[in-house]
Amino acid sequence: MKYIKIASNALNGLRGLLLVAITGAFFGCGSPSGQSGAGGIAISFDDHFIKEWYELRPLFQKYNAKATFFITCPDSLNAEEVAMLKQLEKEGHEIGFHGTVHAKSTELMDAGGPKGYIETEIEPGLRHMHAAGFKPTSYAHPGGNHNDRVDSVLLAQGFTTLRDVAISRRKFKGFQLYAWPPRWMSAVYYTFNGEQKVDALMIDYDEVTEEEIAEAILEAKENGTALMVFGHEPLYSAPQNGRYGFNVSFLAAVLREADKQRLKFYTMSELPEVK
Ligand SMILES: [Zn+2]
Repeated sequence: MKYIKIASNALNGLRGLLLVAITGAFFGCGSPSGQSGAGGIAISFDDHFIKEWYELRPLFQKYNAKATFFITCPDSLNAEEVAMLKQLEKEGHEIGFHGTVHAKSTELMDAGGPKGYIETEIEPGLRHMHAAGFKPTSYAHPGGNHNDRVDSVLLAQGFTTLRDVAISRRKFKGFQLYAWPPRWMSAVYYTFNGEQKVDALMIDYDEVTEEEIAEAILEAKENGTALMVFGHEPLYSAPQNGRYGFNVSFLAAVLREADKQRLKFYTMSELPEVK
């Protein structure tokens, strides 16, 4: 997971500024350049809200949009959910993988090495995905937790895109420590350089404003990059009981703006393939 690391005792301005400067490589000012005319957006969704995602189809169809759905706990997929995912795939969306047990991969790796990690988090879920007729080629790190060792195992398993989590706001005990404009978060823009390890901006409730996302979309358009965003459960009101989710009206605004700027829609596995 990527965020500006500000320690809880570092609320005095100077140290905060220093830390912001240190993390500048990730949160650089101005977004990077990609390929002229390739400007786009790659939207993904995590976890297991299959019916709820399926209900978003009219919205996707309205803008001819495609997205990537990262599925976790595929052992619990029922026939109805498999059919819905098949239909989404048929309509141009991608079905990715988000782990068998949604655990912290670095801890699994420490406890059981690559073999233990693969046998717990990767293989069992993939078997279910394959049996259901899906061949995921992109992977989203559960909880945004990973390291180089985890990445190398996943790439060796054949995944071509590994997606991490980027957060533009950070709160501590209810206080907002910072809100970094997404248009300055260079890591959430794909530059079409073949990179397989990528970061997506979380667009769950209260994370990003419509104005900020419109600015971020314009950056992608002007620089020929792809803005990468992701969310969890589609919600129609403020989240209750600590649920993770995005406002459907916010997603509609993202799609509307992307369409207005004539952005291309990319799935996660397509990104490294663009030449
Ligand atoms: Zn997740």
